[in-house]
Amino acid sequence: MKATGRILIVGVGGLGVPAAWTLARAGIGHLTLVDPDPIELSNLPRQVIYRDSDLGKPKAERAAVHLRRRFPKTEIDARAIAFEPRNALELAMAHDFLVDGTDNPAAKFLINDAALKAARPFVYGGVLGMSGQAMTIVPGRSACLRCLFEEPPDQEEIASCREAGIVGPVAGVIAQVQAAEAFASLSGVLPPLAGRILTYDATALARFRVTEVPARSGCKCGAWRGKSAAAPVHQ
Ligand SMILES: [Zn+2]
Repeated sequence: MKATGRILIVGVGGLGVPAAWTLARAGIGHLTLVDPDPIELSNLPRQVIYRDSDLGKPKAERAAVHLRRRFPKTEIDARAIAFEPRNALELAMAHDFLVDGTDNPAAKFLINDAALKAARPFVYGGVLGMSGQAMTIVPGRSACLRCLFEEPPDQEEIASCREAGIVGPVAGVIAQVQAAEAFASLSGVLPPLAGRILTYDATALARFRVTEVPARSGCKCGAWRGKSAAAPVHQ
């Protein structure tokens, strides 16, 4: 199976790098990597694609260099820019599927809103300490991030998340799940995590748990008006 669509990866760090690697290896035709940040020393242990010689250079550009070398058939567009309100819609429209590789809630909500407006599916990913989550949003068909949480968390909550940090192998697992969702979507299959959130807990014996996320009545995504993609809406 070969998917030829265009995928936008927002954030080229602990989630974005392994997701990009898996998608390029799977033969995806086009990847756009968006990240305004330079590579820092603290990134090297987790974001294994980068080398010492990449320090201080833009993540998006260096990731593209390494990926092109390994997967020359995948077209890779590197943008060392922030995904922000003035370019979010245009970037979303230019792609078939979006992967959330960001580490901040405001960016996740911006991806959510741009994807809904552009009618493009995307996969959310989040990692906190030894656990992680992923959920796919198919606009108008399955619950969105605002069905789950109406507003981004406040600064205090965000600060406590940062302290818990990101564990490389946990991010790797979530990135693989995100890549599989993207691949399903491009292959014309409804991604299994549309309307469902997967939680991965590296400390538990049963590491994976999948929970239905019903569309929230009144949410501007409009998914509550129709049938939930995954299951009937219980409201
Ligand atoms: Zn919603």
